[in-house]
Amino acid sequence: MISVDEALRIVMQAAAPLPSETVPLEAALGRVLAEDVAADVDSPFADKALVDGYAVIAADLQQRLAGDQPALLRILEEVVAGAVPTLPIEPGAATRIMTGAPMPAGANAVAMIEQTESLEIDGQPHVRISPPAVASGRNFLPQGVSFRRGEVVLAAGARLRSMEIGLLAEVGRGKASVIKTPRVAILSTGNELVDVSERPGPGRLRNSNGPMLAAQVLEAGGDPIPLGIARDDADELRRLVERGLRSDVLVLSGGVSAGILDLVPATLASLGVQQLFHKIRLKPGKPLWFGTLGQKLVFGLPGNPVSSLVCFHLFVKPALARLAGRDDAIPQTLTAQLSEAFFYRGDRPTYCPADVTRYEQPPRVRLTAWKGSADLRSLAAANCLACFSEGDRHYSSGDPIDVVEF
Ligand code: AMP
Ligand code: MG
Repeated sequence: MISVDEALRIVMQAAAPLPSETVPLEAALGRVLAEDVAADVDSPFADKALVDGYAVIAADLQQRLAGDQPALLRILEEVVAGAVPTLPIEPGAATRIMTGAPMPAGANAVAMIEQTESLEIDGQPHVRISPPAVASGRNFLPQGVSFRRGEVVLAAGARLRSMEIGLLAEVGRGKASVIKTPRVAILSTGNELVDVSERPGPGRLRNSNGPMLAAQVLEAGGDPIPLGIARDDADELRRLVERGLRSDVLVLSGGVSAGILDLVPATLASLGVQQLFHKIRLKPGKPLWFGTLGQKLVFGLPGNPVSSLVCFHLFVKPALARLAGRDDAIPQTLTAQLSEAFFYRGDRPTYCPADVTRYEQPPRVRLTAWKGSADLRSLAAANCLACFSEGDRHYSSGDPIDVVEF
């Protein structure tokens, strides 16, 4: 049996980014850019006032500020944001300017409105500007300091967060070319399963894996396609697996162990899916099956809900990220201190549901009262998996232990 690390390596090697598609900006959040994007404008589009005040020639203003006395300048015009100045600044003159408006030609500083007072002399608008002088370059942003037209502002591979969406909007991209979202078919198998809406009869239980795995696909940035429940019947299973193989990824749950009705591996083989591994050294999750059909990935997750969830988190989630062009979902381990002593007995590395408090330094991890692979409830109280290596060992309170966060 292969290790968790080896299994992840095989999965990631099989997972390649999907082709691109063009989507409207509103649908691009969280996606990965598939092209370099160049600006079609300068930012700022011109030298742009950062304050309300008067655009001046800094040296001219300084010369006119004699000692503590204010300087008196003619007002040429008023420019608001959205307007364009029409007159160049000349010595002895200033233009009233509002935040965001373009600077007039010749101006190289803005005196803030707070140090000015406007007045009329012979019916002509004037402004009195009090000391101190304003240095050249103050209170405006030079044209193109952020980026120049033609410059690549976002490179292919960028994950589109809200700021990248804003930047795309700034350079006029109402649409973006992004890596496709992986389509993930989800098929639960088992004669014992009934739909969530039903009350299970004797020997039956609800298909909790279906909705759970669909939620995990959504969390991982994929597009879930629920295919419902397949009975443990070769024909029915084959029909539904065929349908699932139309998606980029098929995730099955159940039917991969050694029972007489565990038909999944044989069904997949008969449809040409190539097995890359079956069974790994992991608890919960030993029966995990993985294979490919061309570029398509097929995961046969164990039926027990905790095993399904753990295997999805450790293997399917990173694969979906890679398909979507990202490499940010490889499970990261964090070292935490065990909050209580614990005797571990196990023939395989075990990932136990646990709760880690990150606000403590070092972080502390407490195991939830876990009743085994079927116990989803204990996962509802968990925010991580605590990883114990194989072999019997007594752990003391405070011992360091690796945890994988959800
Ligand atoms: P299997 O891996 O098919 O042997 O399934 C192991 C056990 O997991 C079954 O006996 C069920 O109790 C449980 N199980 C299988 N599939 C599901 C499912 N879709 N939802 C909830 N529990 C399941
Ligand atoms: Mg089964």
